[in-house]
Parts: sequence; structure tokens; C-alpha cells
Amino acid sequence: MSQIIKMFLGKCPHCEKGQVFYKNGNPFLFQMPKMNKNCQECGHRFEREPGYFFGAMYGSYLCDFSSICYRLSTHFLYNGWNFSILDDY
Ligand SMILES: [Zn+2]
Repeated sequence: MSQIIKMFLGKCPHCEKGQVFYKNGNPFLFQMPKMNKNCQECGHRFEREPGYFFGAMYGSYLCDFSSICYRLSTHFLYNGWNFSILDDY
């Protein structure tokens, strides 16, 4: 439970003493909080390493590609090789 409280207080996830943000944001003024690069207490690095989102990108490609294949295969299965759906564009 203390982990959740410290998360909302913006404490370092490694040592739970240093602050993650050096400037608080304001959602009503569309201001994002400013994050420290490293913890002042333990030196823990807060930034994500390069390639952090590659797994999500490949998963997204797989979902999109399978969705397109499903849509095209059902279209051609029920309508034959009819491309009249493209006439509207
Ligand atoms: Zn720390």
C-alpha cells in the first residue's frame, strides 16, 4: 500500500526518497509535469531506454494486419471479386 501512496507523491520507485518530478504540471492549463533525468538520492535513471515501444509497435502491426486480412477475406468471400465498394471513393 505504501508503494501506491509514494507513486502518487512522485517518489523514486527505486529508493522511495528522491522526487521523480521537479516541476508539477497543471491539467487545467495543459501543462505537463517536468521529470528529472536521474534520482537525486540514488541516481536511478527515470527515462526509458531506446526501443522501449518496439514490442507494442510489433503487436499493433500484427493486430492491424490481421484485421485487414479478415476484412478483405470476408468481403471477397461474400461478394466474389467485386470491387464496386471502391466506386464510392
Ligand atoms: Zn532514488
